[in-house]
Amino acid sequence: MQSYSLIAAAKINLYLEIIGERPDGYHELAMVLQSIDLADYINLRANGTEQFRIYCQHPQVPLDKTNLAYRAAELMASAFPDVFAKYGGVDITIHKNTPVAAGLAGGSSNAAAVLVGLDLIWKLGLTQSELQELGKQLGSDVPFCITGGTALATGRGEQLSPLPDLDNFYVVLAKYRSLAVSTAWAYQTFRQQFGASYVRDAQKLLERQQRVHSGLMVNAIAHRDGAKIGQLLYNDLEKVVFPAYPQVADLRATFYQLGAKSNGNFLGAMMSGSGPTVFALTASEASARYLAEEIKAAKAGTDLEVWVARFLPTGIQIAPTLPKN
Ligand code: ATP
Repeated sequence: MQSYSLIAAAKINLYLEIIGERPDGYHELAMVLQSIDLADYINLRANGTEQFRIYCQHPQVPLDKTNLAYRAAELMASAFPDVFAKYGGVDITIHKNTPVAAGLAGGSSNAAAVLVGLDLIWKLGLTQSELQELGKQLGSDVPFCITGGTALATGRGEQLSPLPDLDNFYVVLAKYRSLAVSTAWAYQTFRQQFGASYVRDAQKLLERQQRVHSGLMVNAIAHRDGAKIGQLLYNDLEKVVFPAYPQVADLRATFYQLGAKSNGNFLGAMMSGSGPTVFALTASEASARYLAEEIKAAKAGTDLEVWVARFLPTGIQIAPTLPKN
């Protein structure tokens, strides 16, 4: 087949702890990542040339070599030059639904989709772990975006341990359209402010990792205990993003105020990744939809955008082909 469409799911962080600094200069992290059904659609079509071309209508998505989807294609071409020479390049069309620079791994999910799609078009037959090894070279979130579901991520975020799927949870996602937070800025600012307390010793880093593995959040997920998961939501990056962007802090506070008045299915709220998206976790779709209307009403007159999404047990999926008539 010369063409594939893939569904690239966004993610939220249920937990993000910055543990310390690694010898390679990256942060040592402990995260719990969760795929959600807010997704981009990525179409790959063999173009009979030796080039990759990006098409996307979204004004914030670059169409040049800096696009993560493009970088994923180049990586595949350099990893498999003979296969690239045989099959040639592809046109990559990105239908963007996930907000950009929002802490939802939009770019990483697009890169993951290109790795999976080229594996299919070029008939490489790579395993998930081979695809993840390639993904690591593009960004720490890319390996997770390939397999998705619920996972504990350590190291730079690329070392994954799958966790039991969380079914029947919903999130309300809220983001001010005009607000974007740079992930690099958030981590650099965190390092400037909290770097003095980082764990740097290799043995101590390992001990901390092991403690997180048996941590309370992982335990709550194992028991699918929604109330506990809601109480244990955690994100170190709120410490730097909230003071710089008070409207993000206010958004989370507003979710808690509205949640307290709602029908008991509100479980908690937190910023995702480096923000500025804030999500509220609920135990039913009806509660999520109710809360979505409430937050829109509370922030009427602003450029707040709101989505309702369900937890997903998967990462990149092949989109079903539409019947031709
Ligand atoms: P993460 O949660 O992994 O930190 P994010 O969701 O905060 O990522 P992205 O949506 O990936 O952020 O966008 C970050 C930047 O990457 C954007 O400012 C954009 O210019 C650039 N970018 C490159 N490729 C893409 C892509 N395919 N989709 C979206 N942004 C892209």
